[in-house]
Amino acid sequence: MTTFSIRQYGDPVLRQATREIEEIDARVARLAEDMIDTMHAAPGVGLAANQVGVQRRLFVYDIGEGPKVVLNPRIVESSGEWTFEEGCLSVPGLSWPIVRPNQVHLVGIDLDGNELSIEASEYEGRVFQHEVDHLDGTLLVERLDDDQRKEAKAILRARALQLPAADPDGLPTL
Ligand code: ZN
Repeated sequence: MTTFSIRQYGDPVLRQATREIEEIDARVARLAEDMIDTMHAAPGVGLAANQVGVQRRLFVYDIGEGPKVVLNPRIVESSGEWTFEEGCLSVPGLSWPIVRPNQVHLVGIDLDGNELSIEASEYEGRVFQHEVDHLDGTLLVERLDDDQRKEAKAILRARALQLPAADPDGLPTL
């Protein structure tokens, strides 16, 4: 089992959009495998490639039904509204109630090159939105309302001056 270290808030790689994958070769398969190991070890329910420093457009997730890999994911439709207490492996130990669309339609391809088209809502839909955001270089702190963001930035600024934070306390981390 190979695990990566997970890039933390403040690392510029988390702010950069990722490149689409044009060829599914052994390196991509190996990357996905190691990302799944990293996600399970964290533990988390989702992990985007740039969270482990790789600027390619793929994420892995496991919401209790076994690990899955999505290459070149895009959300083509979203609707509704749902509030969920959201955390992130790159911003450990913190979470906020965040409002986002409830239903999403995710498209992409799997490791065999098959087209994926998944309609998801609630928890699964939230994981997809969170991971696609990562791949576009957007962190969950950008999804906070003004008051939440002000408070979050103050905490994160203070934390940047201290030692790395403790592990998330059992919250679902994406
Ligand atoms: Zn995250």
